[in-house]
Amino acid sequence: MAGTTGDLSAVAQRLAQRIRASGPISVAEYMDDVSAFYYGTRDPFGVAGDFITAPEISQIFGELIGLWCADLWQRMGAPEPILLVELGAGRGTLMADALRAAATVPAFGRALRIHLVERSAVLRRMQAEKLQGVAPQWHDGIATLPAGPMLLIANEFLDALPIRQFERRDGAWHERRIMLGDDGERLAFALDPQPNLLTALLPQAEDGSVAELSPAASALGHALGARLAAQGGAALLIDYGYFPSACGDTLQAVRQHRPCAALEEPGSADLTAHVDFAAFASAARKGGALVYGPATQAAFLTSLGIAARAASLMKNASAAQAETIDAACHRLIGDTEMGSLFKVLALTQPGAPVPAGFAKETS
Ligand code: SAH
Repeated sequence: MAGTTGDLSAVAQRLAQRIRASGPISVAEYMDDVSAFYYGTRDPFGVAGDFITAPEISQIFGELIGLWCADLWQRMGAPEPILLVELGAGRGTLMADALRAAATVPAFGRALRIHLVERSAVLRRMQAEKLQGVAPQWHDGIATLPAGPMLLIANEFLDALPIRQFERRDGAWHERRIMLGDDGERLAFALDPQPNLLTALLPQAEDGSVAELSPAASALGHALGARLAAQGGAALLIDYGYFPSACGDTLQAVRQHRPCAALEEPGSADLTAHVDFAAFASAARKGGALVYGPATQAAFLTSLGIAARAASLMKNASAAQAETIDAACHRLIGDTEMGSLFKVLALTQPGAPVPAGFAKETS
């Protein structure tokens, strides 16, 4: 499917019509519209695609997350059944690797009910193929998940959620919007002339600063926190992002592994933003969950035993395979690679044991 782009000009035309009809749209509205098309029409992963994610780099990533789940489930008193939920499951690789590793705890394997939150039809089909044996059920959001305790995992899901952007001008925050340029077709950024009331939430900053809010991420954090507090379980969210909250323009578009302009050829590039982990954690805490981390991906995977798992894979590997395993681990935990930009946040129900990889609750 890589390379399938669907009808790109239709996306641009739809956006132009929408702007002509009701005026400039927010960055969040743009991201939401464009991402639904982007993910809905292709497999974006890997060398032939636009970007690569941790589960596609090494099986060890999903395996360690599967063991994290099995360990926490046992220490939580082994509730049965338990939902294992993944948000934005991509090709299904992370879930498949996690389930293979979790099978070392047979009772956990038997207790699991697999649920995937995924809005791309193309990726749902790939997930169905990869996870045939475990009869997953699909959802458009977390609201339709069945009741009961759950373990939820999400890798590179939060970065795809829409953000709103604000720019500081003359001592006030103005929302950045997307309008039609002079030719009536090309998209361009514009600032709302009126200061934005929402921005009571934003810090003082110098003129020219950019700040971001993700109402979608905060709503998800709050809902997850409330659900974990009421029904039990834990969540593990991994993504690139920052902690504490800070100003900065983090909107990025990536096509074929290279950055490109966010407004050019809408729908042809992956559009994401760095995750504000402090804002997400605060929403989850308000919902009722305990928060752990964020830990860096390097610290988290190291404490879960990435080195030992790599060593055991290398025992049966050729010299070339061993080199590949080594390079993959370096990519996952190297300081200038994914090791420190990527962070791991855990949420649990109050009273749950401390999840592996975290020292103590973040207050
Ligand atoms: N977790 C996978 C894929 C990350 S890409 C991996 O690590 O490889 C982002 C994933 O989230 C894709 O599966 C995409 O289709 C899905 N997604 C993005 N926005 C979504 C939304 N609003 N609702 C449901 N799924 C979404």
